[in-house]
Amino acid sequence: MARYKDALCRLCRREGEKLYLKGDRCYTDKCGVERRKYPPGQHGQRRKKFSDYAMQLREKQKAKEIYGVLENQFKRYFHQAEKKKGVTGSHLLQMLEMRLDNVVFRLGFASNRRQARQLVLHGHFTVNDKRVNVPSYLLRPGDIVALKEASRKLNIIEENIAKMEHRGLPSWVELDTNNLKGKIAQAPERDDIVLPVQEQLIVELYSK
Ligand code: SF4
Repeated sequence: MARYKDALCRLCRREGEKLYLKGDRCYTDKCGVERRKYPPGQHGQRRKKFSDYAMQLREKQKAKEIYGVLENQFKRYFHQAEKKKGVTGSHLLQMLEMRLDNVVFRLGFASNRRQARQLVLHGHFTVNDKRVNVPSYLLRPGDIVALKEASRKLNIIEENIAKMEHRGLPSWVELDTNNLKGKIAQAPERDDIVLPVQEQLIVELYSK
């Protein structure tokens, strides 16, 4: 399965803001953006003026980087969002949020989306009591995501949940820490999704 393998802090530095791709480290002064507030590369410290197209492209890249989704899959989400009634950009973000790897991250079982993806791929989670090891699996309101009984000995999950306070639990999920399971209470509205992305620019980019 293809995925982005380059250094994560470079991505944040290129966008000029924190995308919180590494989990705990992002909240410390070791964060790459905090240490070097300019884009990576030889010409990184030069001032650049962005065209409208470049700004739209950067917003799309940012969303892809945050959710760890590659171009073709991202485009597919966009086309599905376009077919729905309502605001395309909000539907796009809603779909990305409802991915299983993202929900595992949002529930606090993983410290970042990359780790969440790995945990899902290794088959540590069930959805409605059935084992699901597909990170892109799209959840629906009412679905229950639970850590498998055999995976409860994983210290990393408990450690991640204990460190959740700097992120907070989104309003659209419910977490049962005793039974290590979470529920999708409702599909997230745009206001529920805290994300440094202007999705309207992505819509403009794909609508050209
Ligand atoms: Fe981005 Fe986190 Fe690296 Fe900071 S530490 S640059 S937020 S990935």
